[in-house]
Amino acid sequence: DLVPVVTVDGPSGVGKGTLCQHLADRLGWHFLDSGAIYRVLALAALHHQCPLEDEEALVPLAAHLDVQFEPQDGQVKVILEGEDVTSAIRTQDVANTASKVAAFPRVREALLRRQRAFQKAPGLVADGRDMGTVVFKNAQVKLFLTASAEVRAERRFQQLLASGQDAKIERLLTEIRERDERDANRAVAPLKPAEDAVIIDTSHLSIEQVLDAAWQEVVAKI
Ligand code: C5P
Repeated sequence: DLVPVVTVDGPSGVGKGTLCQHLADRLGWHFLDSGAIYRVLALAALHHQCPLEDEEALVPLAAHLDVQFEPQDGQVKVILEGEDVTSAIRTQDVANTASKVAAFPRVREALLRRQRAFQKAPGLVADGRDMGTVVFKNAQVKLFLTASAEVRAERRFQQLLASGQDAKIERLLTEIRERDERDANRAVAPLKPAEDAVIIDTSHLSIEQVLDAAWQEVVAKI
């Protein structure tokens, strides 16, 4: 692979998105939000009333998923079948559905090529659960972010409050634990660090400290 890749994996709410956006901007590289692809698939399954436990039905939906990512004013618009679903895919319901459809091996297989197509010059920063272990095994830099479930629930809580939404921290914690459990225990591409990944525990780090730690790794290896 001639085009360099930085992979950033880890559980939900750990700050991967913020880090990846920062790295992609700083390097001037492309950015893959692989979670958004699973979220779009979940939304498509809900729209088309595709049974969520039916792998046979989900595979063709995944293979023919009509999704586009359109960069606009520093943000990325997500378009499903011509419709702007940028905010629709960010609900807790879609996140939970995404982690269910993502557990099917053939669904993941059907989305592989689509994800690898993001590896284009001058480079790619890839955000997900299995970027370093499956999708971009030969990546030059592999980072794995962790933080305790409590810290992640607290951060999500503050985010929701700041955006004027109501939330219960116990509920957020339960949902984070359930999704972690599903993502870490599935048979295919479970959430775990690649053997050659550098692990960054962000529980007691500021955003700036995480960005610095990650940047040190990037400059050391690229
Ligand atoms: O990262 P995000 O919260 O958007 O991902 C939503 C869900 O999609 C995750 O909980 C996970 O089940 C699934 N996912 C995955 N593999 C990836 C990215 C996301 O299985 N590379």
